[in-house]
Amino acid sequence: MIAPDLETASAALRDLIEGARQIVPFTGAGISTECGIPDFRSPGGLWTQNRPIEFADFLASREMRDESWRRRFVMEERFAKARPGRGHRALASLYRAGKVPGLVTQNIDNLHQVSGFAAADIVELHGNTTYALCLDCGERYELSWVREKFESNGRHAPDCRCGGAIKTATVSFGQAMPAEAMQRAEELTRNCDLFLAIGSSLVVWPAAGFPVMAKRNGASLVIINREPTEFDELADLVVHHDIGEVLAPFISH
Ligand SMILES: [Zn+2]
Repeated sequence: MIAPDLETASAALRDLIEGARQIVPFTGAGISTECGIPDFRSPGGLWTQNRPIEFADFLASREMRDESWRRRFVMEERFAKARPGRGHRALASLYRAGKVPGLVTQNIDNLHQVSGFAAADIVELHGNTTYALCLDCGERYELSWVREKFESNGRHAPDCRCGGAIKTATVSFGQAMPAEAMQRAEELTRNCDLFLAIGSSLVVWPAAGFPVMAKRNGASLVIINREPTEFDELADLVVHHDIGEVLAPFISH
């Protein structure tokens, strides 16, 4: 059913949430746009102006690593300022109520953690941009440290003490999906009885696979997204409306 208006959507969503035993939210860029994080893939988004740097190029070239970090620091003001939105807070409320065993996200902005989810209960398919890792030894670095080194070294990206390249903990184009995250996302999807796809166009692999998997395992499927998705017909409830507004009634304090 495509909800004809917000009132119908809220009532239907409330029924589904109240009747569910295990809810797994799957979130994409749309949940964070009200927090000031742009959807990089959208028309006019950052990636249409600036071609993303592929993983192989990052590895092969020091200049690409410098450029990659330069772009990241340009974005830092937005990321540092962003606070969880109504959608994040509503999901955190359901999590605190014991209804959400875990959440799967395509977002890299750390806002689900800030909203109250334990990091261990979040599966980040595309990683996290708010800290960095050495690609060789896995040592964690804070962005402030990388930036200080970058600025004081003629705007060149620092290397790890082991000699490895340091990169934000995101999954770049051309970089393998983390196998463990994929496996955990599949487990959560298979075990839930309500799958909430929120703010994702569900076109980028592997996002597209999850709604189908949930449905095939007998879960109810809800899609909340401003734009139609190609899975709308499969869903039990489709809401084409502002995410914050749809989820705000589920925020509990
Ligand atoms: Zn290292």
